[in-house]
Amino acid sequence: MLDFDVAQTRLATAASPAAQSEKVSLSDCIGRVLAKPVIATLDLPSADNSAMDGYAIRHADYQPDMRFPIQQRCYAGDTPEALQPGKAIRLFTGSIMPEGADTVVMQENAREENDEVIFIDTPAKGRHVRYRGEDVKQGTEVVAPGTVLGAAQVALIASQGIAEVDVFPQLKVGLLTTGDELVAPGQPRAPEQIYNSNGPMLSAMLKRQGVESVTALHAQDTPESITQAFETLLSECDLVLTVGGVSVGDKDLVKPTIEQLGGTLDLWRVNMKPGKPVALAHARNKPIVCLPGNPVSAFVVYTLLVSPLVRTMQGRTQALPAAHYGTLDFDRSYNDSRIAFLRAQAHFDKNSLPRLIPHNDQGSAIISSLSWADVLVRIPANTTTGKGDVVRYYDLAHWLS
Ligand code: AMP
Ligand code: MG
Repeated sequence: MLDFDVAQTRLATAASPAAQSEKVSLSDCIGRVLAKPVIATLDLPSADNSAMDGYAIRHADYQPDMRFPIQQRCYAGDTPEALQPGKAIRLFTGSIMPEGADTVVMQENAREENDEVIFIDTPAKGRHVRYRGEDVKQGTEVVAPGTVLGAAQVALIASQGIAEVDVFPQLKVGLLTTGDELVAPGQPRAPEQIYNSNGPMLSAMLKRQGVESVTALHAQDTPESITQAFETLLSECDLVLTVGGVSVGDKDLVKPTIEQLGGTLDLWRVNMKPGKPVALAHARNKPIVCLPGNPVSAFVVYTLLVSPLVRTMQGRTQALPAAHYGTLDFDRSYNDSRIAFLRAQAHFDKNSLPRLIPHNDQGSAIISSLSWADVLVRIPANTTTGKGDVVRYYDLAHWLS
């Protein structure tokens, strides 16, 4: 049986991002992954400037009760004059520091009378000045390749005057559900049929990760139907996911069909529960991951084993988000030969590790437990684990982003 962490690493590195990149404007880059570094072309701030509305002085000129004549009113965007000895220049937040000035006195500590200013307290030398380059130095990397671009990165890139960035192309994923018993939501259902919930669930999980292009097909349990779907998905997509039909039943035809198409297949029994065998295949130079059909198994396997591969293929540097620690709060104990992943809720209290409360039905077909849970708790194998024990957990908000 393959160790869970080994399986996770193998899948996270089973494919590479696209070699080429494309340019997008700053307004279209949100959620995209940076392909080439953004290098600062400017010092930021680009000149010493005032952090306050106030008055610029030369600190050495200051004496108690002194009146400073106001030499200039210099607004943000204006060019300051060189400060004359014994004078003050009226400044506003963002105004460029005049040559010769070294200190800003904020207006709350000043009183203006007849074009002169009197300071209430002794000013501290160098206060309220933002120095050139204190934020970013020209020539340094401000955003690294592999970063998902969000508002913070956009602010940094825009502040450099850069309007376009190089990003990885959008990943195209094919999703193949299988099963004669399945009907699409919205269609009439015979008593012996069930609705296809894995297809919509996995599409949603992919979209949540920033995959905009998901081609979802459904195949009947026949070699012809599965082959036809694979032909379409392998020609149109970068990665193909299949659900169901991959164990050892009579109708489990996904594995032989991949081999028929010339693909190579590694079928693993991963040391995890839920999660029946997981398969990683390659056909036509494209990765295929086969997920178990039970909805909870498909959800857990996607979250912990497939989402890292998606991140890698998107070009993201961080394929594996961190796991956290919490305290198990449940009146039973576990001991299993496989690592168990429990759907649970995390409760955050002051001054303690989060309390992890597992759902009381951990069956692999209990779809309602998925929408209830916000974390997956990891119970170690071959160890009796119960109330009060500190265990690892995976935050779904991170693992599905
Ligand atoms: P299989 O591996 O194909 O035997 O599927 C295992 C279980 O998951 C069976 O009970 C299937 O009916 C169910 N299942 C498979 N695919 C889906 C799906 N797309 N949506 C909901 N349930 C499914
Ligand atoms: Mg099936």
